[in-house]
Amino acid sequence: EDLINRIAAGEVVERPASVVKELVENSIDAGARRIAVTTANGGMDLIRIVDDGRGMDRDDLLLSVERHATSKLSADDLDDIRTLGFRGEALASIGSVARLAVASRPEGAESGLALVVDNGRRSGPLPQAMNRGTAIEVRELFAQVPARRKFLKSARAEAAAITDVVRRLAMANPEIHFILEGTDRSAANWPGVSGDGALAARLGQVMGGDFVDNAVTLAAARHGVVVAGMAGLPTYTRANSLSQFYFVNGRSVRDKVLVGAVRAAYADYVFRDRFPVVALYLAVDPAEVDVNVHPAKAELRFRDPGAVRGAVIRAIGTALAAAGF
Ligand code: ADP
Ligand code: MG
Repeated sequence: EDLINRIAAGEVVERPASVVKELVENSIDAGARRIAVTTANGGMDLIRIVDDGRGMDRDDLLLSVERHATSKLSADDLDDIRTLGFRGEALASIGSVARLAVASRPEGAESGLALVVDNGRRSGPLPQAMNRGTAIEVRELFAQVPARRKFLKSARAEAAAITDVVRRLAMANPEIHFILEGTDRSAANWPGVSGDGALAARLGQVMGGDFVDNAVTLAAARHGVVVAGMAGLPTYTRANSLSQFYFVNGRSVRDKVLVGAVRAAYADYVFRDRFPVVALYLAVDPAEVDVNVHPAKAELRFRDPGAVRGAVIRAIGTALAAAGF
């Protein structure tokens, strides 16, 4: 059992940033409006996630750290299994390779309850004073699994990977207030935004106001592919391609078709050694994407890449033309 957990952990929990991704996604699933992430030493010493979501009662709390325990699975959720990957494995896996503390207080409970799973050994739950929501701490990740710890990069690189994960989740969820802090990083505080300009406001917070001021808004649909987001003006470029963000059906993805489509969209304007800056949000019929490539790695395959490519090129081309390019 312990061994199985550790093997599963290798799949789900590659590095501190993958822990952060799983935990923040859980907070989002729990309806949190505010999610605070604290890390130390690139997440290797500490990852703490505090949310104000619906929390867990005693039974759910005990179940949450068991393998294959998920409150999210139902028979007609088969698509969801593929999109969200390893169902009910994250907390159990993390608890098998770190000291995991989970504290939660649901609405109406008089106090919270906290339990600890220390490299596979559970203790608690014990009462803990806290606000409604869930607080999770992961300490000394992989400290007892040297073979995995060895593969981690520097604290600085791991902290940067965590920032990247939180940034993408924040871009996908503008209405949620994200806080990112720790001794190992520069802090971020992105209050939730809603209403008409929500996406532009969030992109301003995360990517910088200069991007929003030098970008066009995308709004186009073609062959069942809806394209939204913002695309930088050809006069506003960056020296590396790290400022291109792609979301499909609300999830951050890396995909060559999208990268290629953006390159083609700017082919007439840009650039030697320069890259356009984009935050592209696609909505497509879930049946048109296969996310089974690797559930934890944000890769996908479009059934009809040509339609997606065409829709993106046209959306950007139309918006840039309207702006005089
Ligand atoms: P999954 O998310 O696939 O269900 P996890 O191992 O990530 O599996 O979480 C197990 C269960 O623990 C979830 O199904 C959920 O019921 C509960 N849970 C985890 N994190 C939170 C949270 N932040 N707030 C409320 N419930 C949570
Ligand atoms: Mg989860």
